[in-house]
Amino acid sequence: MAFEGLSTRLQNVFGKLRGRGKVTEDDINDAMREVRLAMLEADVNFKVVKDFIGKVKEKALGQEVQKSFTPAMVIIDIVNKELTELMGGTQSKLAKANKPPTIVLMAGLQGAGKTTLSGKLAKLLQSQNHKPLLVAGDIYRPAAIKQLQVLGEQIGVPVFTLGDQVSPVEIAKQGVQLAKEQGNDYVLIDTAGRLQIDAELMQEIKDIHIAVDPDEVLLVVDAMTGQEVVNVAQSFHEQLALTGVVLTKLDGDTRGGAALSVKAVTGCPIKFASTGEKIDQLEAFHPDRMASRILG
Ligand code: GDP
Repeated sequence: MAFEGLSTRLQNVFGKLRGRGKVTEDDINDAMREVRLAMLEADVNFKVVKDFIGKVKEKALGQEVQKSFTPAMVIIDIVNKELTELMGGTQSKLAKANKPPTIVLMAGLQGAGKTTLSGKLAKLLQSQNHKPLLVAGDIYRPAAIKQLQVLGEQIGVPVFTLGDQVSPVEIAKQGVQLAKEQGNDYVLIDTAGRLQIDAELMQEIKDIHIAVDPDEVLLVVDAMTGQEVVNVAQSFHEQLALTGVVLTKLDGDTRGGAALSVKAVTGCPIKFASTGEKIDQLEAFHPDRMASRILG
């Protein structure tokens, strides 16, 4: 799983502190230096790390820790709380429009997992008695439409497509229209990505955004993406006013830390975590549980 390296490193740092009855200011500074290194090595953005360490230190150097009989536990608790905050604090659910259908737009780079996520989310919604409609808006990647159709068939969710010769803006508009007519309460619009952000493609997804006015704009982020994820997230956020983030490929052997920076950079909550290629490998993202898992 992702974050394993970070998890091991942090557990080592706190393991050393645990044995002590008293913790001095120097001990705290040493521990924080190690936490800082562990986070940087896990690929968390350096500004995010700096801010994080600043907050933890401020609290850890307070009276409470030094007076405590179990100072290590107090420090771990502080780190746990800040890590939870870093990942968004409380769980954030998928938006729900006052008047259905709820329109969800997928954004992100090619290969991030948008099409797979569209299928997974459709299945999850279906299991909650919703009636989703999938819309095949990625007309550029040759297999994307077929991939979505196969997923749709597998889970018994309809897929709206107009092939690859009609503009994605038109496809999205007609998809939403169809959902209204058929009584689908969620419309999940898959879109195209590029390996690098490309102005034309960004304009296209902006046009889709204007045309359908989505309730939820999810940035799909591959946890394997390194530091450039911060720039990617910032660009998408500036153009599209993202409302949530989905981390994918958390099952991989990745450092994962860059993905953790996305919340801090965009202010958008992480709503789901994708943990495999199978259709049911999608979890609601709980910042507190993830923090506890990382701290072991
Ligand atoms: P898109 O270009 O953004 O639509 O990306 P796809 O949905 O086609 O996904 C790209 C690749 O990543 C596919 O081979 C997926 O099976 C794979 N994938 C997507 N999500 C996950 C995940 O959570 N874990 C793993 N291991 N693979 C994933």
